[in-house]
Amino acid sequence: MIKLHDKYFKPFISAKEIDTALERLAHEIHNDIGYEIPVFVGVLNGSFMVVSDFVKKYPSPCEVTFIKLASYEGVKSTEDIQRLIGLTQDLKGRTVVVLEDIIDTGNTLAEIHRIFKNEQVKALKIATLFYKPAAYKKDFKLHYVGIEIPNKFIVGFGLDYDGLGRNLPEVYQIKETQHMTNLVLFGPPGAGKGTQA
Ligand code: 5GP
Ligand code: MG
Ligand code: MG
Repeated sequence: MIKLHDKYFKPFISAKEIDTALERLAHEIHNDIGYEIPVFVGVLNGSFMVVSDFVKKYPSPCEVTFIKLASYEGVKSTEDIQRLIGLTQDLKGRTVVVLEDIIDTGNTLAEIHRIFKNEQVKALKIATLFYKPAAYKKDFKLHYVGIEIPNKFIVGFGLDYDGLGRNLPEVYQIKETQHMTNLVLFGPPGAGKGTQA
């Protein structure tokens, strides 16, 4: 178990399982695209590890780039308007595969579709390492899904809790009930105060 800020997280998906899922995605995508050169687009910050590990497994030439969506400053956070950083390259006629860390409600995905609508791409495919089907509220097709997970908050492998946890090589799930007995298990032997080793 780990602690980030005020919350506890338990091991959920191992680095090996993630690796296997990315390997499968790389081959699925390559089988569909063939030897055309795709443009893989990572959505920062969360997808940096997904992209890095995924493209190493992609078995033929490809281009790799990143975009970042940032909320407009001074606009109420309830308004779903985002500013785009990146995407300087001409994508006309190209097969674009968006690489996401996680798809939850699908709001980010809706924004991505809006962004790519004017790019005259040949095809826009969506790939995500993690997907929460119980939280998804949109109709956009998810072409490639790594691992379906329940609607609970996770961290690690690029995903953060308030800035922390992105560097973890595996994924942890939030612990909703935090009994002292569990805390003792992971403290130094005999500590019994819930302090972290
Ligand atoms: P959506 O727009 O689909 O609701 O959510 C996408 C974004 O929300 C992700 O890129 C990620 O930043 C954040 N997110 C959604 N679910 C989780 C989660 O379980 N853990 C973390 N750390 N971030 C999440
Ligand atoms: Mg993301
Ligand atoms: Mg985040």
